[in-house]
Amino acid sequence: MCGSLVAVALVYLTLAADMVRGRAPLQSAAPVNVATPIVNVELTPEWDAPLSHPRPIDRSAIPLSVKTIVIDPGHGGEPGATSESGLTEKEITLDVALRLRRLLKEEPFEVLLTRDTDHRLSLDKRVSFANENKADLFVSIHVNSMEPHTIRALETYYVGPTDDPTTLKLASRENKESEYSLSDYKKILEKIYVDARRDESRALAKTIQSQLFHSLKTANPELENRGVRTAPFVVLIGTQMPAILVEIACLSNDDEVDLLTKPDYRENIALALAQGIRRYAHSLTLAERKGS
Ligand SMILES: [Zn+2]
Repeated sequence: MCGSLVAVALVYLTLAADMVRGRAPLQSAAPVNVATPIVNVELTPEWDAPLSHPRPIDRSAIPLSVKTIVIDPGHGGEPGATSESGLTEKEITLDVALRLRRLLKEEPFEVLLTRDTDHRLSLDKRVSFANENKADLFVSIHVNSMEPHTIRALETYYVGPTDDPTTLKLASRENKESEYSLSDYKKILEKIYVDARRDESRALAKTIQSQLFHSLKTANPELENRGVRTAPFVVLIGTQMPAILVEIACLSNDDEVDLLTKPDYRENIALALAQGIRRYAHSLTLAERKGS
């Protein structure tokens, strides 16, 4: 008597633990001689995957293409970072953004700038400009300032990270449910959307970072590739499309300031950004073709 009760309890506990961990419980199926536990194992859908460890989404499942690009030259009105010689972040970001618009206009893209003159613009307004124009990509351009001044860092950010404790908590809570309500479906779909936007932002960041580094290192051999990073920048959180923020140089480094004063170097930065955007857009087109 006790034996069968213990067996049922053990199977139930195993299944419950699997649900808590978000693992599909099918491998630990109950022995045939025990009653079916409360958890409805057979009806667990295939996509009832652990939300805390989402599978990468097949790009062909979510058709994406790049038509409208919003370029966001950082700062304006207020100078942002400033070099010892007085070169300001706001003038460099605007100059590079104007070059990038010229270069991308040769493509079948609609290119919009959050600002094309030197005026103050709040972060909120930059975000709503991109969202209202239904941009497919958002690229925010900045110039860093770092200690020590010897650093010449190039880095690209996207919103992150996925292992954010709040998101994990939400995923863990939802995985405990064996029956989904309509609102659970909604949450899952939103989670998938968030993952897709984050994955695409990371892909865009990687493409742009590598293109920039390889294009600039000849003229700037001591440039340090700091890679792709995540950070909760407001413009990355609020935008609803793949979005990145790139720190194209360091105004705290005198050699980089010298380079930034040269139009050729700024043109190279714009060319690399344009090439990175093209490569990313092309990879989406390929994924879409593969899926059709
Ligand atoms: Zn900045």
